[in-house]
Parts: sequence; C-alpha cells; structure tokens
Amino acid sequence: MAAQHQTAGGPILEEVSSLTSCESFGAGRAGGSTPAPARGYGQPERLQRPLSTLPGVGPGFARKLRPLGLVTVGDLLFRRPRRYERAAQEVPIASLAPGEEVAIAGVTGPISVRRPRRGLSIVSCLVADSSGTTSATWFNQPWLAEQLRPGTRVRLRGKRGRYGFEVRAFDTGETRATADFAPVYGASEQVSSNRLRELVRVALAEHAADVLDALPADLDPPTDLELPIRRDALAAIHFPSDLAEAERARSRLAFDELVALQLAVTRSRTELPDGRALPPPGALVARFRAALPFAPTADQEAAFAAIDGDLALSTPMRRLLQGDVGSGKTVVALYALLRAVEAGAQGALMVPTETLAEQHHLTIERLCADLDVRCVLLTSSGAAKRSRAAIESGEAQIAVGTHALIQRGVRFSELAVAVVDEQHRFGVAQREALSELRPHILHMTATPIPRSLALTVFGELAVTEIAKPPANRKPIITAWVGAERSGAAYERLRTHLAAGRQAYVVCPLIDASELRLARAVEAEAERLRDGELSGYRIGLLHGRLKSPERREVMRAFTAGELDVLVATTVIEVGVDVPNATIMIVQEADRFGLAQLHQLRGRVGRGAEQSYCLLVSRPKLDLTDGAQARLEALVDTTDGFELAERDWELRGEGQLLGTRQSGYGNLRFARLRRDGALIERSRSLAEELQGLEGPWQQAADELLNGADPANLA
Ligand code: ADP
Ligand code: MG
Repeated sequence: MAAQHQTAGGPILEEVSSLTSCESFGAGRAGGSTPAPARGYGQPERLQRPLSTLPGVGPGFARKLRPLGLVTVGDLLFRRPRRYERAAQEVPIASLAPGEEVAIAGVTGPISVRRPRRGLSIVSCLVADSSGTTSATWFNQPWLAEQLRPGTRVRLRGKRGRYGFEVRAFDTGETRATADFAPVYGASEQVSSNRLRELVRVALAEHAADVLDALPADLDPPTDLELPIRRDALAAIHFPSDLAEAERARSRLAFDELVALQLAVTRSRTELPDGRALPPPGALVARFRAALPFAPTADQEAAFAAIDGDLALSTPMRRLLQGDVGSGKTVVALYALLRAVEAGAQGALMVPTETLAEQHHLTIERLCADLDVRCVLLTSSGAAKRSRAAIESGEAQIAVGTHALIQRGVRFSELAVAVVDEQHRFGVAQREALSELRPHILHMTATPIPRSLALTVFGELAVTEIAKPPANRKPIITAWVGAERSGAAYERLRTHLAAGRQAYVVCPLIDASELRLARAVEAEAERLRDGELSGYRIGLLHGRLKSPERREVMRAFTAGELDVLVATTVIEVGVDVPNATIMIVQEADRFGLAQLHQLRGRVGRGAEQSYCLLVSRPKLDLTDGAQARLEALVDTTDGFELAERDWELRGEGQLLGTRQSGYGNLRFARLRRDGALIERSRSLAEELQGLEGPWQQAADELLNGADPANLA
C-alpha cells in the first residue's frame, strides 16, 4: 500500500502524494530519448511493489525502511535527496593541508579505537598512497575497527584537522559515497544515508523503465522550460553529474507535481451556497476602532477593506488572511466578527486548541465589555451548557471556541461571520461542517505560502496578506546555547524578570503521553522554583490542567501576577502577552523547525527587544539535521525563509504546518523559486481540463475516492 504512511490529511493531500509518488497518471507515452528500458516495457504499476521485491531487501530491512516512509519502490524512487556532497578534489596524501574538504585514495594499515570520554569514540587508521601516509579518523563509529581490515583499498573524503584526516565519507569498493554530488538522504538510526543510496541505485536499475511521462507529448515537458523527461529527471535527481543537472531534474519533477495538484484542486472546487449580504460598517465598528490602543497598520486596514467588500455581497466570503506569527491578525478577526454583530447577527471565532480559545476569549471579552457586546466561550470542557444556550438563543453575539462550535449540533441563532484561526490545523471535514452553516468565512494562517501557490491550493479563497508586522517591532534575538551553559541562559532570563518583564520556559519531552508530560513539567517547575528561579512567581501550563485552572493561570500571567510560565507546547499558538520578552526552550533540538518558530512567536509581541534562548543537548550529540534547524532559527526570524530551510532539511514531506491543507506533500516544488512553474502548471491544467487522456481519468478516479494505491 503506497499511501499508508501518510497519515492525517484531506483527500487532496492523499491524491497528490499518490500521483507524485506512484506515477498514477497511468499509461502515458514512454518518454523520448531515454536509454532502453532495463528490462521489458515500462509498467508503472510495478512502482507499487513493496521494497522487499528488490534484490537484497529482506523482510527485516523492509521493516527498518518503513519508519522512513519507504514502503514501495515508488516511495524510494521519489524520495528527494536532502542534499548532495560538494565537489572535492582528489589529492596525494603528501600534499594534504588543513582547510578544504578533499578526497584521498590509498590502502589501510593498522587500526585502533579510543574512548577519550563518555559518548565519544575515535577510530584511527593509517592510510598510505604512493606519496605518503596519514592517520585517518572516524568519530563515534567504533564498529569500523572490526570492519576495516588492514590492506583494504579505500577512498576517503574529509579534511585535515586536529585528529588527522577527519573522514566524512568513505568507500571501500566503487566510488559512491565519496563521489562528487553523491546524494545524501534523510536517514534514521537503523538505516544510514549510504545504505539508502545503494538501495536507490538498485531500484533505478530495476525500475527506471517503469517511470513514464503521463502528459501529452507536445505539452510535456513544456519545451520552452527545457526540462528533461521524467525518467531522466528521476535518475538525475539521485545521481546528478553536477548541481545544475540536479536542479533541472528537480524542476521537472516539481512541475509534474504541480500539474497533479492543479488538476486535483480544480476538480474538487464546490459551488458556494447563497449567504447574507451585510450593510456597510457603522457605529459599533467605529467605536471598536476608537477603543484600539494602537492605529491599525496599512496592511490591517487593507484587510478591513477587503472584508467590507466581501461582506457586501450575498456570495459568502471565503477569504484567507495570511500573516506571520505576531503580525496582528487578531484585530482583523475581531473586526470581521463585530461586523456581524453590528448587522444584528452573530460572529464565531474557531481555534484549534482550548488554551488558545481561552486566551482569545480573555482578550476579546475585555474589549467586548467596553463595546457592550456579549461574548461566550465554548469548548468541550468549560461550562458548555450555558454557553450553548446563549449561542442558540442569540443572547451571545460572539462565540469563541474550539471545533466544539460546529460539533454536537450547536445551532447558532444567526451566524453571519465565522473566523477560523490557524486554519491549517483543522481537518477538511471540520472546515466543511463550518461551511455548511453558510456564514461568511475568514480563514487565518501564520503559515506563509507564496501567493501564487495559495491561490492554487485554496482555489476559491481570496488571499489577503499582512506582509509587515506593526512598526514598533524589533526582530527577536535568538541564541543557541549548549546544555552546559544553560546556567547563563537562566541568568539572562532573571535580568528580564528583574526589569519587570515576564518569561516562558518551554519543556521538552514531546513524545511523552500527556500525563508524563504534565509530571515532567511539574517537576521542572519545582526544580526551577528551588533553583534558578527561586523567589519568582512561577505558573504552570500543560494539557492535563482542567479548563478553569488553565484559564486562571493564563489570566494571572496576562495580568502580570506571575513572572514565569513553565509550559509544554500548549503555548505554541496564539498566546499573546506583550510583556513577555524572553523564552527559554529546553532541549530545543527535539523540536521541529516549524514548531520552534511558532513557539518563538510568543515573545517579541511588544515594542521591547525580545530574546529566545534555545538550549540543546551538547553539540557533538546532535544530528546534522538538529544542528541545521537550530542554526536556521538563529539566522532568521522570517517565516518564509524558515519554511524554505525546513523544506531543504527534510528533503521530503511537509511544508511548514501544512499537513491538512492539501499541498503538504509537495516533495519537489519549492516555495519561492518555482513561481514560474506554478504559473505554467496552472495554465497547463486549464488546457487539460477539457481534454480526454490518462490524466483526466486519474483525476476522476481520485475525486471519486478510489484507493489511490490502485490507480496506476
Ligand atoms: P497574530 O498574527 O500572531 O495572531 P496578534 O494578532 O496576536 O498576532 O498580534 C500580536 C500583538 O501585536 C498583539 O499584542 C497585538 O495587540 C499587537 N498589535 C496588533 N496590531 C498592532 C498595531 N497595528 N500596532 C501595534 N501593535 C499591534
Ligand atoms: Mg494569532
């Protein structure tokens, strides 16, 4: 089963990933000038075969591949390399100098292993060529001492350093791992990148012929884009002769992916029901503006205007408001909700977590009280009954809540405007359930997507961006601190507390159960109370707290009655306390890039300079990926840039937090670079609309809910 490992996500998500991973467009032409197929004719359905059908892959190995999302041959062939090795010159050992990475080739001599301290082992081996001898070293691979017999011919890539020739990659047979531009894959502890590289080689030899181009010959690839045919692109993405070739290959695969996406999205568009046109803004909205403690930014004003335009029509609003964390989306949400109230109807704000609902309710209630607007909170825990009655009688003018708002048959007396915050965190089913209530809907997201892609993916949604945060903001300063220096991090935090600011401490253990997590956070808060933060008022926030307790903690923190909030990732979204200016994230290496970006967004929400201190386990213990994530966060606070880096690092899978929205599994397309390809794929998809062909059939079957795995 191909798509089995892709868990959550709407139908489009599955469709697209299956199209791109398994060549589900079905029988097309068998590409132009490729070398003769390895064996027989191309049979795309062979790409669905389990990896255990490849030579050398037993059931045990197949099991180890599964957690990497590699189940079928297609999964493997369409796995994008995370990066490529750089070009490295081969030099005689005698001329080795410190600095540049180079390759050497020679024969091994005696080998030894040392363990200078816990967690560090060093394998050293003499390597000689005709010019001289050097000592080559490997870190933390003690088993090599057994495997590398003296007298073995080796090729090594690495650098001369403190410990001799420090090896980054080596080959004992053919030049593969040490070749220039050798692919590097996202690996696991069970399966190394080298092993994957060998496996891809085998899979290409066996199955390259099964990779067919699916689009009409004159359209595919569009000749002016000068893209290779699909089969060649696939070979080149894994084993390019240089980076330019890898990029052309990527563009080709991205293009196919984007066309598939376009077709699936176009087909799934639905007709909008009739809604209710609202009168123009009046006195309530004017009072709201006057009550704001700041002047809206130009982008916020533009969003108000766009919303006014939408609400004036009887076609219900379907607008996406995009703005990075902290850019000021909440004010826009409130504006839309008040427009409903002003028209004598109701507004609803739906958010993904109870904590966020409670937080928003706190903020909004305060403002509503000033404006004489009645506002209730509805989640699955809180005082649901009373809120529900108020919503149904129409006494509540604004309802803030989780998906509980649209479940259990809550009947709004007259819902005119709904705002969905962090919309990508909701499933397709939930968004549809809301849509059936027929209100005007404003979706909000902090996940930056290029406009052209947003238009594609969200189809009928109009897109408004808050491109610039409020002018008073200073970019958050982020530092990466090794665990051994965490004392200094807390010292820094105390200077903020002493100056009357507030702080967050985020605890890790992201895989633990809620209960274990809660205990760990409690223990950590206890430890801090007695240690680093003694004398300060510390609050606790985690998923096991009952709703009233959680609300009380948030209220107290917001009111400045607590100095520090020790929390799990429940604070990831939405929590808004501008006086909190510093955050420590413990074991930050265990979090994903997107998650850290969201967490960091909890500070830097006021005019004060804010700081985010990422405390990690010792550097030497971290994977390349973890180091790169932390470096990326230190380098930039730009969500777009981080999305791109995240994509680079993962080499596959999801763009920042886009799991549910249908475009989460683009493997080859790139956020910024592919604007032209996106445009071309749109126009190609339009051309294909009316035409009969395998692509149409594939799209039909996909939309009819056929099992994508059977579509080949
Ligand atoms: P997000 O887009 O992440 O939801 P918020 O709406 O929570 O961001 O806004 C972040 C902070 O910026 C809040 O404290 C909010 O009051 C403040 N803010 C919003 N708009 C402005 C503005 N125009 N000028 C100054 N501060 C603003
Ligand atoms: Mg928000």
